[in-house]
Amino acid sequence: MTTEAITAELVTRVQRAHTLGTVGELLGWDEQVNLPPGAAEQRAGQHAALAEVQHAAASDPRIGELLALLQARDALLTPDQRAIVAHARRDYDRATKLPADFVREKAGQGSRGYHAWARAKAADDFGGYAPVLEKNLELAKREAGYLGWSGREYDYMLDKHDPGLTTAATEKLFSELKRDLVPLVRAIVASPRAAQAREAAAKLRGFPVEAQRTFLREVTAALGFDYARGRIDVSLHPFCSGTGSDVRMTTRFNVDQPLDALFSSIHETGHGLYEQGLPVAQLGTALGIHAGMAMHESQSRLWENQVARSRAFWRHFEPRWRELFPVQTAGVNSEELYLAVNAVEPTLIRVDADEVTYNLHIVLRFELEQKLFTGELAVRDLPAAWGAASRELVGLEPATDREGVLQDVHWSDGSFGYFPSYCLGNMIAAQLWACVQRERPEVEEDFARGDFAWLLGWLRGNIHTQGRRFSALELVQRITGEPLSPRHLVAYLRERYGALYLG
Ligand code: ZN
Repeated sequence: MTTEAITAELVTRVQRAHTLGTVGELLGWDEQVNLPPGAAEQRAGQHAALAEVQHAAASDPRIGELLALLQARDALLTPDQRAIVAHARRDYDRATKLPADFVREKAGQGSRGYHAWARAKAADDFGGYAPVLEKNLELAKREAGYLGWSGREYDYMLDKHDPGLTTAATEKLFSELKRDLVPLVRAIVASPRAAQAREAAAKLRGFPVEAQRTFLREVTAALGFDYARGRIDVSLHPFCSGTGSDVRMTTRFNVDQPLDALFSSIHETGHGLYEQGLPVAQLGTALGIHAGMAMHESQSRLWENQVARSRAFWRHFEPRWRELFPVQTAGVNSEELYLAVNAVEPTLIRVDADEVTYNLHIVLRFELEQKLFTGELAVRDLPAAWGAASRELVGLEPATDREGVLQDVHWSDGSFGYFPSYCLGNMIAAQLWACVQRERPEVEEDFARGDFAWLLGWLRGNIHTQGRRFSALELVQRITGEPLSPRHLVAYLRERYGALYLG
């Protein structure tokens, strides 16, 4: 067989497994958007049956044979073929190296863990949840061991979401960020403008859902989301799933917090544009998959923050916003709107945080996760450690565990190492944005005209069409000419929020 023929067969089999995975994702989307309440059990059966078929396809021994053949002639492979092999190898090892018993145990623990967390949060009872968390930690370490990461378990957790990312690299980036960001947040919070921003946001009330829906659809379509290849619906928690020509986004509406639905939709649109920009013919291979969660998050953050919180963006969209909500916006002037869009307020709760303080919530989780994995911190000591870190970083200490260590769902199913991608995404977005401004100084004039095509084209060319040929850190270096650094994020936050709050 020629190298081309082997690669073609590998791609066919890998894509079949991926296609089955996307069917499962669609079932998951449907579950959160449409499922009749009595159908949960039936859906669980559908998920389980499909997962079995998907796992059989992903662990097909023929994939192992083809990978061995290609790896034996590594020197003859093109860079694209090498990327395809590396990505397929990673998936294949994950599908075949975990013992069936372990996979079953982990799946059972995952759903038990979720319910234990929900109960513990409702009752503010960390003690009842601690044994679950200990078990999750143990399973995560065992998983790392099966895949050859013994002694580097937290590196494995990071690499799982962001191929190539290490604890050491993340630690360096976060400690630098923390040094510059903590004093900036303190200064903003002390500014009299902080209270004005809160008051401005509180004035935005009684926005009818139908008109909110109209506005956010117009905005997201203007940004470039292709509604012929995707849709937006309502769910309890906003998310974006699907890929290529079928991208499903969700949002949720609150008549008294109209900026929430808008900005969460723009955020999901950033994810959706990335997925719609992947080469459809290559879906499921390294050439048709995103570069990891940090890069994904950089796309959502760039559109949400650098673009949609800018004055230029609102110069274009404010007239239409007032037209759709004439009564509700009558008492709000343009400056108040801009302040409300860029309100900063420290909060105990990560998901309620603004874009400035948000990063500190992530640094906190990263520091604690790392200590849990090294054993420096025991699970039972988490609440106290959380309180101390929260005081140091956010300036607030939770009175209850519900507002502290129990607030996030992630650890309940063993999703350690996921949080850092949110903050790395912000750093990447800021560094890409600095590069965009150098390459096209008039980019904000584009926005003021409602033209986002240049920016989307730039992201398509530099990132979306690259698939997973490079890791997020490599891609940032290639595009911007320098390694990822938090200084761009700090500079961006100083510029936008410094001008607003400290000017
Ligand atoms: Zn996101």
